[in-house]
Amino acid sequence: MELSTPVEQLSRVGPAYQKKLKRLGIKNVRDLLYHFPHRYEDFSNIVPISRLQLNEAACIQGAITEIKNIRTWKKRMFLTQGIIQDKSGILKIIWFNQPYLTKTLKVGDSICLAGKLIKKEKDFYFSNPIYEKLSADLTHTGRIVPMYPETAGLSSRWLRFIIKPILTNLKNSITDPLPPEFLKKFSLIPLSQALWQVHFPDSKGLAKKAEDRFSFEELFFISLFVQKERQKIKAQKAIALPIQLELIKDFVKRLPWPLTNAQKKTGWQILKDLEKPRPMNRLLEGDVGSGKTVVATMAALNTVKTGYQTAFMAPTEILAKQHFKTVFELLKDFNVSIGLVTGKDNRLFSKDLKEIVISTRKKLLEKIKSGELDILIGTHALIQKEIKFDNLALVILDEQHRFGVQQRAHLCQQKKFIPHLLSMTATPIPRTLTLTIFGDLDLSIINELPQGRKKIFTQIVGPEKRTMAYQFIKEQVKLGYQIFVICPRIEASARLTSWAEVKAVKEEYQKLSEVVFPDLKIAMLHGKMKSSEKEAVMNNFKRGEINILVSTSVVEVGVDIPNATVMMIEDAERFGLAQLHQFRGRVGRSKHQSYCLLFTDSPVSKTSQRLKAVVSSEDGFKLAEKDLAIRGPGSLDGIRQWGIPDLTMASLTDVLLVEKTQEAAKEMIKSDPSFKKHPSLKEGLKNFGERIHLE
Ligand code: ADP
Ligand code: MG
Repeated sequence: MELSTPVEQLSRVGPAYQKKLKRLGIKNVRDLLYHFPHRYEDFSNIVPISRLQLNEAACIQGAITEIKNIRTWKKRMFLTQGIIQDKSGILKIIWFNQPYLTKTLKVGDSICLAGKLIKKEKDFYFSNPIYEKLSADLTHTGRIVPMYPETAGLSSRWLRFIIKPILTNLKNSITDPLPPEFLKKFSLIPLSQALWQVHFPDSKGLAKKAEDRFSFEELFFISLFVQKERQKIKAQKAIALPIQLELIKDFVKRLPWPLTNAQKKTGWQILKDLEKPRPMNRLLEGDVGSGKTVVATMAALNTVKTGYQTAFMAPTEILAKQHFKTVFELLKDFNVSIGLVTGKDNRLFSKDLKEIVISTRKKLLEKIKSGELDILIGTHALIQKEIKFDNLALVILDEQHRFGVQQRAHLCQQKKFIPHLLSMTATPIPRTLTLTIFGDLDLSIINELPQGRKKIFTQIVGPEKRTMAYQFIKEQVKLGYQIFVICPRIEASARLTSWAEVKAVKEEYQKLSEVVFPDLKIAMLHGKMKSSEKEAVMNNFKRGEINILVSTSVVEVGVDIPNATVMMIEDAERFGLAQLHQFRGRVGRSKHQSYCLLFTDSPVSKTSQRLKAVVSSEDGFKLAEKDLAIRGPGSLDGIRQWGIPDLTMASLTDVLLVEKTQEAAKEMIKSDPSFKKHPSLKEGLKNFGERIHLE
């Protein structure tokens, strides 16, 4: 057996279990061993029956003196009832619905049981304990026992049963990808020991040691992988796009407002990057409403007027369409052709037509391929194979943390030279993550909002103030402003009782339009609507023909309605901090005073840390850090999908460890760039690349 042995070849794993394992992405022995427990139960202490404490988990050892199945007529279930005896006393055992137990456990067997002593009426018994026949090598009891996330119908018991013999089998044949000098320098335990201790720890301390080692290994490989990728990109050529100063000046002059200093500074940084014959890899970070789109458009204009194409990718259809219109407005005096591709919708603004037309996909594809189209804007539809650019030189990714590194690579691969890459995000990625995931990518930060923006007044609204809030909304509408109402779901589901009280968009729409504001114009928006319907609603809202828009989180990122002054969020507790901040960013986009109302049904004294944080801070960067601290890195968009084991997830935010592994990776690449002296490391990196999906 080797780490690469497929699960099909394991004698204990039948076809049904092979399928279940595959569903978890476990294909071979290595995957199995890297399926870590998420917690442990400490059953290492064997307690005499006479000393058992009521309702406390404990482990006992003894012989079975009686065992039989009974059927309860009332509840129609099987009970397996037994008696166990040790030197100190006897105890009744009850198992529920496991009648097959009487086939394995017989009178006279010495067994180990882990469970809780329960008292019901006058009856004391061990309820549903974990059982195991006594042996020198206990797996499920009498030790610290691993508990695995019970997904895909794989029980912890089954995983222990499979994993333990593999560990024994491989004990002396596992090669450690980390070089011995690393283990020494960073006081890490070797891989074979760590694998053993993470699954079957001899002590809690050793379990922690194993966790530390895997955290190091994981972060080290992420760093190594990312730095190698980046090196590859850096070694490639990009088109140098000279800055066209007169053009840029003209563009800025024609804007309806002056650029902020931060916009000027970051715009200039980007233009300077584009001038170089090496691919730019820059992240533009700016809080919601800071005006990133215009900065990106400036870079696109410079690219296009040098004779090359630009691709502009947005995370949602609504946003892609909005960008299409914004870019069209900003560039309408510059004789540029712009296309839009989303799932179904294709549009074109071409120089000769002077207006936006619905286009066929075929026509659009031809124009992209011939180079006639200057800027292509779209959703992920933009990275389909059929879309071939003639001379793509700049790729802009809006809200890029939603896009995979692989998708990004896809856009970069399909041409003769590597395009420059500009990513934009309003959700600041914590420094530890930018370091690990993006290597040392270049950062531009827009740290100021356009002038005249007022602080958004944010308040938590409990049930007792709902009527007042509605009154306030009425007044805002009377003043000519518009309102967003956000609900967590489309329909209230009767099946999931916890969702029953969730303010569903449809219900809310009905309530607001029929009962609360019968004389106002209200519309709804959700992901299940046809894209043409969605667009019609957004257009009407933008034109001011709708007073109140009831929506799901589809308006979360980027949507720009300057005349909206109230963001009302139902069941605010159900949203993450970064998401709430994004919602709030939909208002306060003009000089009008704006408001964000966080509705909650729990008493104000009990509202979550999250809501309080949103009230007390307007700084998206600070909020992102707080969110990370409260919910952990797994809560960040996309990170769950990378395949980093839960056990090592938290280490993503461990600044010291990140820096340490970052350094170690740098040194390694410097001293042994092709891992000639470290073949096991090379192998480890390859395996890592196969296991992880940095999407
Ligand atoms: P974000 O950074 O969140 O993507 P947008 O690019 O959508 O922000 O810009 C938000 C709003 O601010 C838009 O309505 C845009 O026209 C406006 N805007 C951008 N730059 C300025 C500026 N310098 N002065 C005034 N308004 C601006
Ligand atoms: Mg934006």
